[in-house]
Amino acid sequence: MKELSCKQTEKLIPYFIKDEMDNYTKRQFLAHVEECPSCYEELSIQFLVSAGMQRLENGDTFDLNRELKMKMFTERRHLHILTSLQGGLYATEAIALLLSALILTIIVL
Ligand SMILES: [Zn+2]
Repeated sequence: MKELSCKQTEKLIPYFIKDEMDNYTKRQFLAHVEECPSCYEELSIQFLVSAGMQRLENGDTFDLNRELKMKMFTERRHLHILTSLQGGLYATEAIALLLSALILTIIVL
């Protein structure tokens, strides 16, 4: 899998926020953002701005940092499930993926 550069990742942020991203790109995007603090920072800012504007219009209360983490986790889990289905992973591997996702959430939250 070809890795994304920071420049490419930054350009993709709006598509991730708007859910206009194919699964292949999303996988690369998440892999980069999880490893790259500066791109994660950029993603949080753009997410906060775009989601924050909507919320202000709706007058809802919100915890956007948490929401971004949840969104990333949900997308990740979705991709893991897709991978398991497509690749015909063994059950043990699927469990290992699930566990690492869980551990990640615990660390992140
Ligand atoms: Zn980066």
